[in-house]
Amino acid sequence: MGATTTFDGRPGPTDTLGRAMRDLRISVTDRCNFRCTYCMPKEVFGRDYAFLPHDQVLTFEEITRVARSFVSLGVEKLRITGGEPLVRRDLPDLVAMLADVRRPDGGPIDLTLTTNGSALRALAGPLAAAGLQRVTVSLDSLDDAVFGTMNGIDFPVARVLDGIDAALEAGLAPVKVNMVVRRGINEPSVLPMARWARDTGLILRFIEYMDVGHSNGWRLDEVVPAAELIETISAAWPIEPAEPTYRGEVAGRWRYLDGAGEFGVISSVTQPFCRDCTRARISAEGRLYTCLFAVEGHDLRSVLRSGATDDELAAFVESIWVARGDRYSELRSAATSTLPRIEMFAMGG
Ligand code: SAM
Repeated sequence: MGATTTFDGRPGPTDTLGRAMRDLRISVTDRCNFRCTYCMPKEVFGRDYAFLPHDQVLTFEEITRVARSFVSLGVEKLRITGGEPLVRRDLPDLVAMLADVRRPDGGPIDLTLTTNGSALRALAGPLAAAGLQRVTVSLDSLDDAVFGTMNGIDFPVARVLDGIDAALEAGLAPVKVNMVVRRGINEPSVLPMARWARDTGLILRFIEYMDVGHSNGWRLDEVVPAAELIETISAAWPIEPAEPTYRGEVAGRWRYLDGAGEFGVISSVTQPFCRDCTRARISAEGRLYTCLFAVEGHDLRSVLRSGATDDELAAFVESIWVARGDRYSELRSAATSTLPRIEMFAMGG
């Protein structure tokens, strides 16, 4: 294993910018039942779109082996994502396998999941029973017309809200809610969403619309800067900045002064947080990405399927991490806008 890091005082290899590896996002499928306009627009991802054939997707055993390897190198948080992770069959079985993974010091790992919430009524209980700790649910508006347009399939708000209730009933708390804000599309939903989250005790996080992939036709003028969102909220309720819970936390945290909880802003475009980025991502077919904007993934599946030992697998992962120098969002400019990029749903959001 690499030298002890000074990044956060805990062991594990560090990359060329001194960043440790602490979070792993695992995409368990490239498929999704939504067609969000900013992620998987239906014009591009229609009936004929070729998703990964099953034999190219990592099995639960392979995913667990990968997770164990990353945890041996310092990862403490696993987030299951996709595509839509709840469309992967028997997902609670995978959760049970991941929940058994232990850190080198014997401690448990943090195990969470990001979902569109559409199947939580059916699955929240089994997922919690299998060892899932929390969920983040994506919801871009409380207005059915706005949400239906954004999710691309007219999926009703009420069913996502029911999914959130199911998660709370199952003890998957605190529930965080991700809202991508697009100028001129769901801006009017910002205050109603904030009010609802305050009333219900959910932690709402506003996400700046990002230039991931190419299918969404991203334009900078569609990004509502985090600073503007903070101003909008503070005009309605007094707020103050809250300390990050840990180094590398993506959301800037804000607290309501009247005690009604907190909200977060993920300002990946206007205030990139590359220097504290401790995240690695595994796509459904087992490619390792060291940046959300990486073009090249590293083929872990071949290593897994070539009969490599656990030590060889860990050495491969470590060799990629120590060479990592990604800081795309800090370098984002006119020059980067034409570079090839992998779609968010494929890499795992
Ligand atoms: N299907 C799950 C869900 O809906 O949460 C997990 C995968 S999804 C790709 C993860 C998160 O990425 C969602 O909160 C989604 O809104 C967000 N996302 C997708 N494309 C985005 C973009 N271009 N900019 C910002 N966030 C985006």
